Amino acid sequence: LERDRLLAEKSASTARLARTLAHEVRNPLTNIHLSLDQLDPELPDEDLKLFTDIIRRNSLRINTLITELLESFKPQETVLTSISIIELIERALSEALDRINLKKITLVKNFGEDCTLNLDQSKIKIAFLNLIINAIEAMEAEKGILTILTSIRNDYFLVTIKDNGVGISQENLNRLFEPYFTLKTNGLGLGLAATLTILQSHNARVEVDSQLGVGTTFTIAFPLLKDR
Ligand code: ADP
Ligand code: MG
Repeated sequence: LERDRLLAEKSASTARLARTLAHEVRNPLTNIHLSLDQLDPELPDEDLKLFTDIIRRNSLRINTLITELLESFKPQETVLTSISIIELIERALSEALDRINLKKITLVKNFGEDCTLNLDQSKIKIAFLNLIINAIEAMEAEKGILTILTSIRNDYFLVTIKDNGVGISQENLNRLFEPYFTLKTNGLGLGLAATLTILQSHNARVEVDSQLGVGTTFTIAFPLLKDR
């Protein structure tokens, strides 16, 4: 019986891993598709270079993901290191930059404050990236404005990720963080569920404010350590 339970647990976690991989591979794969769609021999050399660079970079990214997946089969431990939050936002943004440029989205960064916290860097970066990708996907090409702000309020470090996209209805706001909740044709509905788990394990809180047709704002509040 114990053996059956362990086997069942193992196959459940393998399935979970496969879904996570599918989710993460889809982002670079979409960049490759979007670039291929725009490739045209008539294009000026600089555009051809831009799109082939995107294809090269994103296929390398898929390769890295496979390596990370294989690595992740090794016993997992949370690695806490002291790191700047703005540095992690910048890392997430650099992974989303192709999407931002392909969709001609305006990026507004207003980093008012920075702070250094003890975090699992790769997980927090994924949490930021999930929110940024959702914002990009919610906005219309050429009209989208993605705004990222940082600030300190009371004993919290705040990261605000704001879009002027489709928005979320009150009814759907309640289901947003449920695993497999998605309104996208090709969505997996795992991004926000994973993001919430990651943030909660860091004692951070997430708030969502949204209006249909106007846009959505996610605010993450990291508790600041007090030296007393
Ligand atoms: P997925 O992106 O695969 O659909 P997520 O868990 O990342 O899954 O998001 C769940 C759903 O929440 C999305 O399908 C979308 O409907 C909604 N959503 C998330 N972020 C935004 C946003 N910034 N603007 C509008 N809707 C959003
Ligand atoms: Mg998502």
